[in-house]
Amino acid sequence: MYAQVIVDVPHVETDKPFDYHIPSELRPHLTIGSRVSAPFGNRKIQGYVVGLSETTSVKKARDLEDVLDVVPPLTPELIELGEWMSERYLCRRYVSFQAMLPAALRSSYKKSLSLTEDGKQITLLIPQERQLMRFIEEKQPIDYDQLLKNFPGEKSFLLKALREGWLQAEQVVKDKVTRKTLLYVIKAESDQTLQQAAEALPKQASKQREILQFMLDLQHPIALRDLLAQLSASQSSAQALVSKGLLKMEEVEERRDPYAGRAFEQEAKVVFTPEQREVIDEIVFALNRPQPFSYLLRGVTGSGKTEVYLETIEHCLQMDRQAIVLVPEISLTPQMVNRFKAKFGDQVAVLHSGLSRGERYDEWRMIREGKVNVAVGARSAIFAPFTKLGLIIIDEEHEGSYKQEENPRYHAREVAKKRAELHGAVTVFGSATPALESYYEATKTETGLLEMPYRVNRRPMPSVSVVDMRDELKQGNRSMFSRLLAQGIETRLSRGEQMVLFLNRRGFSTFVMCRSCGHSLQCPHCDISLTYHRSNQTVRCHYCGHTERDASECPDCGSKHIRYFGTGTQKVEEELSRHFPGIRVIRMDVDTTGRKGSHEKWLTQFREGKGEVLLGTQMIAKGLDFPKVTLVGVIAADTILGMPDFRAAERTFQLLTQVGGRAGRHELPGEVIIQSYNPDHYSIQLAKNHDFEKFFAMEMKHRYEQNYPPFYRLVLFTFSSPDVPLVVKKADEWVKQLKRKLPSSVYLLGPVASPIPRIKDRYRFQCMIKYRDEADILSQIKLLSDSFIYANRNEDIGLTIDVDPHMLM
Ligand code: ADP
Ligand code: ZN
Ligand code: ZN
Repeated sequence: MYAQVIVDVPHVETDKPFDYHIPSELRPHLTIGSRVSAPFGNRKIQGYVVGLSETTSVKKARDLEDVLDVVPPLTPELIELGEWMSERYLCRRYVSFQAMLPAALRSSYKKSLSLTEDGKQITLLIPQERQLMRFIEEKQPIDYDQLLKNFPGEKSFLLKALREGWLQAEQVVKDKVTRKTLLYVIKAESDQTLQQAAEALPKQASKQREILQFMLDLQHPIALRDLLAQLSASQSSAQALVSKGLLKMEEVEERRDPYAGRAFEQEAKVVFTPEQREVIDEIVFALNRPQPFSYLLRGVTGSGKTEVYLETIEHCLQMDRQAIVLVPEISLTPQMVNRFKAKFGDQVAVLHSGLSRGERYDEWRMIREGKVNVAVGARSAIFAPFTKLGLIIIDEEHEGSYKQEENPRYHAREVAKKRAELHGAVTVFGSATPALESYYEATKTETGLLEMPYRVNRRPMPSVSVVDMRDELKQGNRSMFSRLLAQGIETRLSRGEQMVLFLNRRGFSTFVMCRSCGHSLQCPHCDISLTYHRSNQTVRCHYCGHTERDASECPDCGSKHIRYFGTGTQKVEEELSRHFPGIRVIRMDVDTTGRKGSHEKWLTQFREGKGEVLLGTQMIAKGLDFPKVTLVGVIAADTILGMPDFRAAERTFQLLTQVGGRAGRHELPGEVIIQSYNPDHYSIQLAKNHDFEKFFAMEMKHRYEQNYPPFYRLVLFTFSSPDVPLVVKKADEWVKQLKRKLPSSVYLLGPVASPIPRIKDRYRFQCMIKYRDEADILSQIKLLSDSFIYANRNEDIGLTIDVDPHMLM
């Protein structure tokens, strides 16, 4: 038997299956989707099995070395999907496969073995095997490679024992053990001895006495961290008692459930509105058909889309099929997760970046082993390795974060459709403001358009005012709050209501500038302004992380009149305190939410009323639902409009609509105030009027006139090198090549310096093509880029290809 293997060797010539011979001992343990180790040249590499055959045309196929997992991490369907992704996004197959797996399975790995309960019972073994099992039991968990060295002839038996469940294997990721243990404190002596010891302790050792007394009262072991927390004791007090032999500590394995200890509120079953009923029936109808089908669900915020998702998933599960739900990372709030957990309990796996590697791996394993049937997660959850997919839901489908900005540069929407096709499944893409591409497709093709134009219970959409900030300045108001907004804030404060203030992206314009000579601080490695961070008085580059102490004098002219400009969230926070003394602001941006769990902490505080204002960036724009929020303010609506991107108007419209959706979702009516220096821009005006259709019509006209998606497709090529002449020359050559080889109907733009001309000391040039959907354009580009990469393999030149790019930088 031979296996066709995609190997982890980063060259264009190696992006194809290699034949390996399968040693007979490995044969029962290997199938399509298995991860294997194999010799390549004089190295040992990893690879994925994509095919099996009886024969090979290769003269001397080498032996596979090992099978790395008991359950193959990929399924035949995912292998097919990976092949498709490589063609669609022009990346190596190996990269596609890696992208589908949790990080724990991507990095260098070690496998450690231990005996299971079954393994302890097993009796029918020959002496060597019994000896091996005993060895494992004594040393467990024991490193697999180590074990093979000690028992070189027993590989076949080990694999069998794993399959039979006599042994269990765990990935040990680098030095990080995926299994989590907790230190427990246990009594080491009789109660009587402890009692006496407690009484005999000197006065100064009151904490130790307290601990002993506590353990006597408790009568069972307790996690050290809980003990210390409950008694506000230090570790050294506990340690002292251990040294005296009164207590002991033991490591106990903790099951890693990120949601452990949380009760999930059961929600009362809702009575569906007629709109919801209709939409649900339609989707269920499609679920009952064997062929794939796609829906676009356009429903205003608060129209009850999530309830639709929950109900249709329930139908899907009843049909013994599985479901994936994607939500943007920042909407994966405990509130959101809670709704799914409450409904489906431990049928749900949750995948998001807040989990540790090990936790993610555990959730992934539950999916792969068929122990759960619903996966909720951000972008990469689209690869949840289900085998009976029935329904894929993408909420907020217009969100830019569904596009991955590194290889493979896939879009989750497209991957969803492909998987639905492979499974005969249904996709539902939901949004209040669908992406233009999606809406266009829904109006013209076989995609079904479902609409829920009203909020549940017909609660009115909030009233929206747009304030012209140029006017404010003319009237002598130099603050960042217009009179209307200031008044709005005042009113909420006096009524004890809450508000959300929104500032687009952190420190976007908080650059540091010298008022004497106009010099602004630039990153020495990237051509971009440094951003000021008040909390630790540093200036930082957002691209490479370069950090400098706050400059107190201008590096150019030496003037001391150097200061930061612009309105970052920190600045707004300060201004709020200055204008509204005593106001309590909860600020959420990348700086305050870096730590795990901090996101949730702030939101809980806000919900509990520990602040009147929730101030933040994009991350507060969606998904949040607070009954007492009656005012949403947008400090500056223009920040996205000014971006060099053909989607700027669309993003502005979406964002303003989303932000506005935060207000008035409950009994109290809501008001939205948008401040802008371009108040007449159609994206702002139409967002104000909640007029998606008109926006769609106008924006489509622009796109049509300028040959942009969805009428044309784009591919962006970015070249980078530390050597300027080289990068210019290569980009030129590339464009000439494209001109010669591609049909004349394809538009070519560039090469030009990228909007960010240098990142991490590499100079960047880019060019772009626009083309009508012609099937073979991508395969032609693939051939050209392969030969380009090969021809330049000895030059320090990078080429990234972004198909259907979302960021044009
Ligand atoms: P969306 O996802 O479209 O923003 P949700 O599904 O979150 O909307 O619904 C908004 C609010 O209305 C939620 O609090 C939800 O529980 C409630 N809701 C949804 N459908 C109904 C219904 N049919 N009857 C009563 N309340 C509903
Ligand atoms: Zn200066
Ligand atoms: Zn930098």
